[in-house]
Amino acid sequence: MSEAFDVIVIGGGPAGYPAAIRAGQNGLKVACIDEWRNRDGSHAFGGTCLNAGCIPSKALLESSELLHRAREEFATHGIRLAGIEFDVAQMHKRKSGIVKASTQGILALFKGAKVTPFAGHGRLLPGRKVELTASDGARTVYEARHVVLASGSTPMELRSAPFDGGSIVDSWGALDFETVPRRLGVIGAGVIGLELGSVWRRLGAEVVMLEALEAFLPMADQQVAKEALRAFRKQGLDIRLGAKVTGASVVAGAVSVQYSDAAGAQSLEVDRLVVAIGRRPFTAELLADGTGVTLDERGFITVDAECRTGAENVWAVGDCVRGPMLAHKGKEEGLMVADLIAGRYAEVNYKVIPSVIYTAPEIAWVGQTEEQVKASGRACKVGVFPFLASGRARAMESTLGFAKIVAAQDDDELLGVHIVGPMAGELIAEAVLAMEYSASTEDLQRTIHAHPTLSEALHEAALAADKRAIDFPNR
Ligand SMILES: Cc1cc2nc3c(=O)[nH]c(=O)nc-3n(C[C@H](O)[C@H](O)[C@H](O)COP(=O)(O)OP(=O)(O)OC[C@H]3O[C@@H](n4cnc5c(N)ncnc54)[C@H](O)[C@@H]3O)c2cc1C
Repeated sequence: MSEAFDVIVIGGGPAGYPAAIRAGQNGLKVACIDEWRNRDGSHAFGGTCLNAGCIPSKALLESSELLHRAREEFATHGIRLAGIEFDVAQMHKRKSGIVKASTQGILALFKGAKVTPFAGHGRLLPGRKVELTASDGARTVYEARHVVLASGSTPMELRSAPFDGGSIVDSWGALDFETVPRRLGVIGAGVIGLELGSVWRRLGAEVVMLEALEAFLPMADQQVAKEALRAFRKQGLDIRLGAKVTGASVVAGAVSVQYSDAAGAQSLEVDRLVVAIGRRPFTAELLADGTGVTLDERGFITVDAECRTGAENVWAVGDCVRGPMLAHKGKEEGLMVADLIAGRYAEVNYKVIPSVIYTAPEIAWVGQTEEQVKASGRACKVGVFPFLASGRARAMESTLGFAKIVAAQDDDELLGVHIVGPMAGELIAEAVLAMEYSASTEDLQRTIHAHPTLSEALHEAALAADKRAIDFPNR
């Protein structure tokens, strides 16, 4: 038996590495085990988010959006650029540099918090022992007072369109296309599909998105979803709803996709196909027999509200447990667990987790949609303010969309905030803070917002909820 730790974290993504750092800050002896391998075989901490998800996708979204604006919007500002060119290889180089700086930064943070990093596969054995298998196959067993499982998630595969690593790829593959496909198919018009479809559309691909559901973004407020769908279609994203894929095969370098919709059997030919139908928890070879940790029927590790598994002092956080698969949700769970282990007070407010879709316009929300509040039977009032009426949005030439507030009719409590428009992902932070403090619309109404800023749209939406908006007619 070798070294013992207070805490061993298995998984070094955005749920696991913050848990390790916080445990180290709490004065505990901590190790973090991670097995991520990049395409070149190198190991990196940071998990899906930093290596193949949030960060590289935002890097490409930014580059492609700048290109789009240079081509479509600069002339309106009086800026004329002749012969705008782009270089996909340079975009990837910039993206890789950002990813590398972020993932290497974790090692420096580990050093500061005295966390021992281990590259390799971790497996929980009974009795809170953890077996580490290094890349050379060497096995070591460590003892831990507490174990935190943060093994993340993996893309779901469609049986009718299996990944082939070249023409039919997952989201990671779609972040690495070396050239712009002339015709790109995307299965799934959810968050990841929309972001990836937007990147390649802006770079010139003809993009067809096949979504099995009839509703577009059913988890979002439907007024927001409608506005977004209109905008995306105008940008050239060919979003086909109610389109269920029944087969896909690669013939002479092209992908032939079969699907069915209300009109019957259809087919489509594309050069590349991205399958973005969701992710499932990843727990392969994570649990030896007899650990006491259980999985639910969908494969998530079963936990309580404080992320305790069924085994004493074994915790689980992030994408491998219930709740939205979001980096910031996993991070908060990791911090909560590390503080609970140290005997401190901690909790996660699952009612106030923001969601953001980094398309243009951006979409962001927190709390309940108008539909959810109405379905709950609670009487609500709604305030909407369009960016068209915002001086800052007009100055930015970015007037599409609106901010919407849903509040309780009886006690004025903010129940949900929904934004589609410029910088929605940044603006939503104010709403998250307001809801964390159980703010009312009156609180927002009485809060001074700088002029001219996009944030005034939230202020005006709060005023509109009581028909007291100033810069837009009240309805
Ligand atoms: C294209 C894309 C874009 C996204 N964009 C966003 C976004 O903008 N915002 C957002 O909030 N979320 C986004 N997400 C989701 C986000 O990436 C995940 O919610 C987040 O990474 C989950 O964190 P995690 O730590 O739970 O798991 P992961 O990030 O998956 O990390 C788990 C880590 O554990 C390792 N591991 C697993 N099992 C073992 C084992 N037995 N031993 C050792 N190591 C192990 C894995 O190799 C991995 O490194 C995006 C996802 C994708 C795919």
